[in-house]
Amino acid sequence: MKFGGTSMAGTERIRRVANLVRRQQLGPDGERHQVAVVVSAMAGETDRLVNFCREANPLYDPAEYDVVVAAGEQVTSGLLALTLQAIGCKARSWLGWQVPIHTVEAHAKARIASIDSEALIAQMEQGVIAVIPGFQGVALDGRVTTLGRGGSDTSAVAVAAALKADRCDIYTDVDGVYTTDPRIVARARKLEYVTYEEMLELASVGAKVLQTRSVSLAMKEGVRVQVLSSFVEDGAPADELPGTMIVSDEEMARIMEESGMETQLVTGVAHDKNEARIVLTRVPDRPGAVSHIFTPLAAAAINVDMIIQNVGRDKGETDVTFTVPRADLARAQALLEERRSAIGFNRIVTDAKVAKISVVGVGMRSHAGVAATMFSALAERGINIQAISTSEIKISVLIDEDETELAVRLLHTAYGLDAEDAATAAA
Ligand code: ADP
Ligand code: ASP
Ligand code: MG
Repeated sequence: MKFGGTSMAGTERIRRVANLVRRQQLGPDGERHQVAVVVSAMAGETDRLVNFCREANPLYDPAEYDVVVAAGEQVTSGLLALTLQAIGCKARSWLGWQVPIHTVEAHAKARIASIDSEALIAQMEQGVIAVIPGFQGVALDGRVTTLGRGGSDTSAVAVAAALKADRCDIYTDVDGVYTTDPRIVARARKLEYVTYEEMLELASVGAKVLQTRSVSLAMKEGVRVQVLSSFVEDGAPADELPGTMIVSDEEMARIMEESGMETQLVTGVAHDKNEARIVLTRVPDRPGAVSHIFTPLAAAAINVDMIIQNVGRDKGETDVTFTVPRADLARAQALLEERRSAIGFNRIVTDAKVAKISVVGVGMRSHAGVAATMFSALAERGINIQAISTSEIKISVLIDEDETELAVRLLHTAYGLDAEDAATAAA
């Protein structure tokens, strides 16, 4: 069981979480389950800790940043263990370095390499509920690491895989994965099932309900993941799958066949305001020109997402447009300016007020016209498309940030995703 920040925000909420954990441990039929719990910091706490780091030293050392930001989860794991004990359960907390959860690669964005689960399993077999702080681990040199924002989802999936758990239930503040963010579109519909692949695409293009890495890990390790709410009073037990199950393609095909449902062209719509656009004008139109642009960005670990190389102008020149994470815009701009003569561009134009809107669905593999629907829906309302990128099951467009909500709503309607009755959609 994993509980996110809003589920852990304060002792009253933690008490409800403890009750959910106890209920899961007892099981509906009185048969005891073994339960491990992964917790996030209280909502807003990690932001607060990040700000302290920035104030202390704008050029903070990532290793010390990790020491600070991992603290939020230390607090909630201890509090949940205490609360479970208070309601008569056996429980103890295990910090990342105590489990240990071994990580590799850089501080502040570490990856889980392995988890030593023997001690946890031995305690769980004795009826002890293991409470593990999400987001944190330990590096080879013994120092504390964190997994990148939203990383508790990944901790939970990794712990589930290490324990060979029957299921990994991700409890949050919405009761499942929706066709789009239910906080933006009241007519969003809850999905009972979504495939790993679709969830991976949705997460990577901005549906923050699950961290992208948690989905790829679940897919790789075959972990059954359910997204559900910790906020429903006396809801159906988690074993009855009240939330959204993430399933394999084969399982989805079986479910569709049994229920006689038809595949939707588009499963979901997502948006992302964390990118910025860069245009380099009058770049020489010759072999090697774009590699002069993107090689230094790659060397600086700046992730380039959408790329367009415009049709060449007459004089053997072309404009190149691409997006980078907004947080890296200043760095990217400085790097490119330094190389102006090597690359040979005329002007650099940047815009941080952009949003990427994406539609995702396995249905688009076998159907034509999915992109055309998107472009005409946006054109009808005068929304200009600044860049386009596609994958086999996704189409993304870059637009003005101010038009984000409008575009998401338009596309949600255009692909027939609106719930019939808005009252049945998310509260
Ligand atoms: P937690 O703190 O539990 O990890 P997050 O805030 O990270 O929770 O993720 C839950 C939020 O994800 C929801 O409140 C919702 O606004 C947002 N969200 C974005 N896209 C979707 C979607 N397609 N379905 C459900 N929730 C979504
Ligand atoms: N507390 C961390 C964050 O806010 C990790 C998480 O909640 O998933 O990013
Ligand atoms: Mg989250």
